[in-house]
Amino acid sequence: MSDSFDVIVIGGGPGGYVAAIRAAQNDMNAACIDKWVNKDGSQAFGGTCLNAGCIPSKALLESSELYHRAQCEFDKHGIRLESIAMDIATMQKRKTGIVTQLTSGIEMLFKANKVTGLKGIGRFLGDGQVEYTSHDGEKRMLSATHVVLATGSEPVELPMMPFDGDSIVDSWGALDFESVPERIAVIGAGVIGLELGSVWQRLGSSVTIIEAMDDFLFMADRQLARDAMRQFKRQGLDIRLGAMVTGAQKGDSGVVLSYDDAKGTQELTVDKVIVAVGRRPYSEGLLADGCGIETDEKGFISVDRECRTGVENVWAIGDVVRGPMLAHKSSEEGVMVADLMAGEVAEVNYNVIPSIIYTAPEMAWVGKTEEELKTAGIRYKVGSFSFAANGRAKAMEQASGMVKMIASEEDDSILGVHILGPMAGELIGEMVLGMEFSASAEDIQRTIHAHPTLSEALHEAALAVDGRAIHAMNK
Ligand code: FAD
Ligand code: NAD
Repeated sequence: MSDSFDVIVIGGGPGGYVAAIRAAQNDMNAACIDKWVNKDGSQAFGGTCLNAGCIPSKALLESSELYHRAQCEFDKHGIRLESIAMDIATMQKRKTGIVTQLTSGIEMLFKANKVTGLKGIGRFLGDGQVEYTSHDGEKRMLSATHVVLATGSEPVELPMMPFDGDSIVDSWGALDFESVPERIAVIGAGVIGLELGSVWQRLGSSVTIIEAMDDFLFMADRQLARDAMRQFKRQGLDIRLGAMVTGAQKGDSGVVLSYDDAKGTQELTVDKVIVAVGRRPYSEGLLADGCGIETDEKGFISVDRECRTGVENVWAIGDVVRGPMLAHKSSEEGVMVADLMAGEVAEVNYNVIPSIIYTAPEMAWVGKTEEELKTAGIRYKVGSFSFAANGRAKAMEQASGMVKMIASEEDDSILGVHILGPMAGELIGEMVLGMEFSASAEDIQRTIHAHPTLSEALHEAALAVDGRAIHAMNK
């Protein structure tokens, strides 16, 4: 194997592996170095997303949701089950199977695109030099015209409750429970807390979510966040806001958590604690002294809008740089930098990055919230439509939640769309496309939406922007 490449990507998550493949498509000789090691010792490309994030969590969300629906919903369809049981080992085996299929798929894609996949550690030395250390400790000096840093992020640990891999775990640990814990505390009512809290609550755990902030899902639309919280509480998630954990004591009866809230100091005894208080950029051992790459006070590698680090031909993408920590954002940055290297015109539209929380109902949004527009002094109009009036949602027995569309008062362009409801994560795609193409609410109004589909709720919300919804009272 040659030690010289057009591009070396360090990190093989959805940012890095996508950048390497796109670089190869652009006729560049690309290598991708990744150091991921699974708990069973296997090494795999795919990063956090495929190995311990997006994919395994969605596999468990699906299994637990089906179990929950079989228990609570089938009856309404007239489906009577004599008994129902959850086999956690089978559920976990399915999850691992999906992860393995997808991570080995990356190796096949590397082969097909002639990307050199290197398992081990990459270290950027400066001047296009990368030190590669294989998992058995062998070192090689590689060089490249372009270097992409895509080393991702890691979970934040709370000093008063360090991870022990058993009773106090991060999200990766919470994806691997071998049985259903009786009592779980989740620290942080963010995306991970809600998704993994939902999984184990549906499977039978008593789940308490302790959130420091007074606002629930502060980044989401206020009205939808309030409605979501009501629904999650009704499902059995005990969400405690304005609660700051102060300590954790491990004993015979479990972990005794202490936290402060408006009423004073509280205690909660649980079997497992899932700490989900955010993630921080990961660049441990990546940057040799004097290599010229700068990081900010939070550890993010500093980049401009085009993911240039300031050191010529060195780029950084994904969770290790500013912006939302989302797989699709990482991948799009990977595509952008590989195209820019090849001299093509490329950009990421940071105004149109969708966010999805895969709870039931799902929450999804793109663009601005009403609160953000008010703060910015932008005049807007709003149209809403409830899934309670959508035929398909009713047929699916999932007629809760709503769509809210926000359009500019000035030129009718769509400024934001917020969905709480069934398949919100799929529905938001239409709105992402619309906003990418600078659609107006009228464009959506004049687009035929098949009947009966959930997407009709988007159509009706667009009509409601101008007080012309057909299947709702217009104010
Ligand atoms: P990563 O995926 O973290 O990949 C970085 C890779 O670099 C890792 O394999 C790491 O081992 C490797 N690496 C680090 N340092 C070195 C080095 N020096 N040498 C070689 N390799 C190195 N996002 C979504 O969009 N949708 C979701 O549904 C979603 N669900 C999630 C669920 C969970 C439980 C978690 C934890 C995260 C989830 N995310 C989700 C976030 C998503 O996983 C990240 O945004 C995404 O993985 C970031 O991609 P990345 O390529 O930047 O980094
Ligand atoms: P998050 O930022 O979404 O939520 C963390 C929550 O913890 C916040 O609400 C915060 O107020 C709270 N918190 C912080 N410190 C606390 C403390 N000491 N006590 C109590 N609460 C505290 O972070 P996360 O849920 O850990 O997720 C990390 C990242 O992973 C997110 O940026 C997210 O984008 C990504 N992710 C995305 C998805 C998805 O797209 N569906 C799923 C999982 C994770």
